[in-house]
Amino acid sequence: VEATGRAKFDAEGNAHQFSGILQDVTEEYQLQLRKDEFISVASHELKTPITSLSASMQILQKLVKTDPASDKVPMFVNKASNNLGKLIHLLDDLLNVTKIQQGQLSLNINRFDLVELIKDCCDHINPVNEYEFVFLGDEELMIYADYRRIDQVMINLLGNAIKYSPSSKRIEITVMHDDDRATVCVRDFGIGINPQKLPHLFDRYYRVDAFGHQFSGLGLGLYISSEIINRHNGKIGVDSTVGNGSNFWFSIPIDDTASL
Ligand code: ADP
Repeated sequence: VEATGRAKFDAEGNAHQFSGILQDVTEEYQLQLRKDEFISVASHELKTPITSLSASMQILQKLVKTDPASDKVPMFVNKASNNLGKLIHLLDDLLNVTKIQQGQLSLNINRFDLVELIKDCCDHINPVNEYEFVFLGDEELMIYADYRRIDQVMINLLGNAIKYSPSSKRIEITVMHDDDRATVCVRDFGIGINPQKLPHLFDRYYRVDAFGHQFSGLGLGLYISSEIINRHNGKIGVDSTVGNGSNFWFSIPIDDTASL
């Protein structure tokens, strides 16, 4: 009914504004579908570490009574702690989305070396050098930005680069700058992304092939990252080829504290 009321016809009698209105409805419908899917994905994503955590705790409780000096104790403590870390990360993402939606994603600007932040982040993600991180470009780049938030973006991009590259261990990280902008590229050699999906990648809840997804995730990391970069007056984007890998990049002002 809405569509009919607003339709305009061209010389041949075709309704040329019709499609725009229909598309709005489709987009709304798709967001609703993604929200529905999100609830089930989120429940599953939360349940997996909770189940594993609870299993580790039960084993530890038994071991404490029967064999407290067992060499299995450190392994289960580690497992429990990893799963707790996953839960904290998931809940952080959910809380960040709420903050973004309420317009409360505030920035705490400080001066730091972007290259050092990225290297620390890589060490954290890759503690036993399972992956080959290759650093290209600047060896130091002092910027003004929110350290914790940029760290969060890097964790998302590097985490995705690892997750979506099941058969490649190489990740190239380039830091560059011009007069007033710092640019970071994270290049992986993984599964890549279908070009048709690229425009939606930074949308809330969006996951490529969500219904048959073999990788874990909530579809929030890139949405949160893009909001963080936007708040820094920056830009974020991706180039990708299916089968060859993806190159995610962002650029932010080096010293734009006045406008933040
Ligand atoms: P998720 O928690 O699902 O990883 P993100 O918001 O981080 O959510 O990413 C959204 C979607 O973009 C992912 O579900 C995945 O399909 C795709 N994606 C993100 N990074 C990559 C990458 N490096 N290579 C291939 N696909 C990616």
